Amino acid sequence: MNILDEVKDAKTIGISGHVRPDGDCIGSVMGLYLYLKKVLPGTQIDIYLEKPADIFNCIRDIDKICSDFGTDMEYDAFVALDCNAERLGDAEPIFNKAHTRINIDHHISNTGCGSVNIIEPERSSTSELLYELMDKSRIDEDIAKALYIGIIHDTGVFQYSNTSPRTLEIASELIKFGFDFPKLISETFYEKTYLQSQIMGRAILESIRFMDGKCIVSVVSKKTMDFYQVGPKDLDGIVNQLMIVKGVECAIFMYETDSMEYKVSMRSGGKVDVAAIAVKFGGGGHVRAAGCTMNGTFHDNINNLSVHIEEQLKKG
Ligand code: 5GP
Ligand code: MN
Repeated sequence: MNILDEVKDAKTIGISGHVRPDGDCIGSVMGLYLYLKKVLPGTQIDIYLEKPADIFNCIRDIDKICSDFGTDMEYDAFVALDCNAERLGDAEPIFNKAHTRINIDHHISNTGCGSVNIIEPERSSTSELLYELMDKSRIDEDIAKALYIGIIHDTGVFQYSNTSPRTLEIASELIKFGFDFPKLISETFYEKTYLQSQIMGRAILESIRFMDGKCIVSVVSKKTMDFYQVGPKDLDGIVNQLMIVKGVECAIFMYETDSMEYKVSMRSGGKVDVAAIAVKFGGGGHVRAAGCTMNGTFHDNINNLSVHIEEQLKKG
């Protein structure tokens, strides 16, 4: 399949991804934008996305992202990347109005929300999947860089089990374009500001283990985020750091988004299917990495989640 088959007759194309965009979301959105700009030069192409973190400023044309969703545009084609329609946030009505709605994703919890659906859960990332849908002879350094960023973010730099031989083949094709990949990995994936490191340290210090050390949880309140002057984008990586504690099968990290409302991130070593648990609470994701938003106190949420984790661990 070639993405061009679906959009080549469109005069206007919209592209979007999920709320709180992560590296793969941003990499795939920008990779597709740069590719379509190149192969369809006369076409109007607009990107709708929440403003990405500053670390992604190294991607060409990132400033073309529109974060004002109040448009009456009815696009000939609209591509939703790395999520289903509900997770598009304020871009959902724009997607729903489009003539051709294309959904490209790798989340197992996504059943497809477009008139064209390309959902491949075995793919490491939406960026990897998108590479397969492109005409390789038209890929240039800027497109390669955007897709590479997407792949390294969703694979934890080729560390997670979603990394396949094909992922590495694609990465090897991409680095042939000659961009400075060690710098990209260091500056977009590993580097933290001092305040980001401090709040991570505090979250780990205050974490609690339960179920004989098989589960670990930590929470960051709004008050703490205000104290360290950080926002949700600054909390990336905390849940992964909890997950690497020896003996942990399931890690949970939450931060307060509103009064009695928490954004929950879960990670699993493989014995617990955290996507299945996240779906029960209106979220989704992958078997080993998933998330949802939960209402209630921190303790209520932990109680509600741990019932399902315990059930799965007992079965396994
Ligand atoms: P993270 O914990 O890093 O935010 O997300 C882990 C995985 O779960 C990612 O693939 C992300 O897209 C997905 N995910 C996180 N939160 C939600 C959510 O509220 N709904 C859905 N459908 N997926 C989510
Ligand atoms: Mn992804």
